[in-house]
Amino acid sequence: MSNQTEYLRTREGSEIGKIVVDRDLCISAAACLTVAPETYELDGENKAVVIDPNAADDETLKMSAEACPTKAILLFDKAGKQIYP
Ligand code: SF4
Repeated sequence: MSNQTEYLRTREGSEIGKIVVDRDLCISAAACLTVAPETYELDGENKAVVIDPNAADDETLKMSAEACPTKAILLFDKAGKQIYP
């Protein structure tokens, strides 16, 4: 069973409609925070949480997901189709 947290994104003009963090995959590497500090922080369990799903532009969000060594960040488009990984 995966332990995923979903964050809906409503940023205007964005093709990304949802960010999902798989908490079981997250190993607290914090690469996502380095790329998009306005989007993520580590919670009390040292797992990434999204603090503002609308803060970053699409390119930054994609780079933050690609930076995650365990692919714990999943991105979905507005129609609900997974676009990363
Ligand atoms: S880069 Fe991946 S493993 Fe590291 S904190 Fe972010 S989600 Fe977790």
